[in-house]
Amino acid sequence: MVLAHDTTAALTTAAAFINTGVGSPDTLRTPADLDRFLDEQQFSGSRAHTLGELRAVRHLRALLAQLWTADEVALADGVNQLLRNSRALPQVLRHDNWGWHLHCTSPAAPLEERMATEAAMALADVLRGGELGRLGICDAPDCSAVTLDLTRNRSKRYCDTGNCGNREHVRSYRTRRAGRETSPRPAKGP
Ligand SMILES: [Zn+2]
Ligand SMILES: [Zn+2]
Repeated sequence: MVLAHDTTAALTTAAAFINTGVGSPDTLRTPADLDRFLDEQQFSGSRAHTLGELRAVRHLRALLAQLWTADEVALADGVNQLLRNSRALPQVLRHDNWGWHLHCTSPAAPLEERMATEAAMALADVLRGGELGRLGICDAPDCSAVTLDLTRNRSKRYCDTGNCGNREHVRSYRTRRAGRETSPRPAKGP
């Protein structure tokens, strides 16, 4: 199943959102940090710019991080809970440069509810399409960032937060080269 464009956009935002919390320092510590993140992600609608809003958003982030690696049943439960708690009401809209896509709350609903329903609806699509394999964790040993694999051949292994792919590439190259240099030469046959 091919995921809809608004689904992949929402999943990309959700992965970036979760990954703001995996490094140190956390990159969502202030309302200004949150503004910057939402602008980067072109997330529209109202914002309170309060610490309460930030706290609610960070709570949502922790929930989504758990769901990203949950099994199907736990993911479905989590998605339903997010949709229920936000009193989601799906509406199809188009605005700005976005074609037809779903909104599940009004633009005036609290930010965390709008972020929750957007992520939850996208995760519902992932479940419906049997595409859970697209949600993962970075393969680099010292990294716990989440990954979203949108490649055709399911080849994504590393996160987008830093340099994990390059770093691992260099590491495995060095390991291979070291292995070649220390391994005994094959004995010559008689
Ligand atoms: Zn929209
Ligand atoms: Zn990584």
